Amino acid sequence: MQAKVIILGSGGSMGVPVIGCPCPVCHSKEPLNKRFRPSIVLQVEGKNILFDCGPDFHSQAIAQEIKDIDAFLLTHTHFDHIAGLDDLRIFSLRKQAAIPCYLSQKSYDDLRKRYYYLFEKDDESVVRLNYNVLNKPAGLFKVLGVDCHYFTYYQGSMEVAGYRIGNFAYVTDIKRYEEELFDHLIGVEYLILSMQRKDASHAHLSLEDVIAIRERVHPQHCYITHMGHDIDYHDLKESLPAGILPAFDGLSFWINLD
Ligand SMILES: [Zn+2]
Ligand SMILES: [Zn+2]
Repeated sequence: MQAKVIILGSGGSMGVPVIGCPCPVCHSKEPLNKRFRPSIVLQVEGKNILFDCGPDFHSQAIAQEIKDIDAFLLTHTHFDHIAGLDDLRIFSLRKQAAIPCYLSQKSYDDLRKRYYYLFEKDDESVVRLNYNVLNKPAGLFKVLGVDCHYFTYYQGSMEVAGYRIGNFAYVTDIKRYEEELFDHLIGVEYLILSMQRKDASHAHLSLEDVIAIRERVHPQHCYITHMGHDIDYHDLKESLPAGILPAFDGLSFWINLD
């Protein structure tokens, strides 16, 4: 069975353009240099699985004509990945049912603090999520009948969940990881990795780090997401080795679930 991945956002935590920034990328007329906050949708048999829901979710859903969200997977609770949660309300309202949500114990505990009001009510005034806590560092669950592997890595002190479905893996906001990461990525043909800019920072990999992971996993297709305004799409594309490309908002590709 096949499924379609759509990149809803390929930008870093501040998006591109950055508010009030005079830099050339922020003022670029190139649409490939406009980036919403990082998120993807996986479309399988007419159902939409959303990975993260940042502050641009409303605009992203309109831009990509996403009409429904059937399940929600969270990588971690930084602002750029959760600030659009309230905008999922329309989907639970229309369905009159809670949206299945998969997240780590750490993410669940954080959400209870940051979005306390979602846990106090179960009515139409807030989004209704049905929480499925993934309470081990790695494992397997079924989302809408599809096998999904999850695994854990780190961004500073933040624990982040990566997800693998079929021959595709979404590995965003990765900075520190154990050797076991590569066990979870064996056989992956479509890999998305995050990089804020070419140089390493306390929270993000450098381009060299990204290339090193890509060489170990050796997917047919590797895309870079979570790019900030230091990155011009065409500059980066030209500097990358074969088999690795910058993502862009609206990019889509088909993956295999078998
Ligand atoms: Zn992020
Ligand atoms: Zn800028």
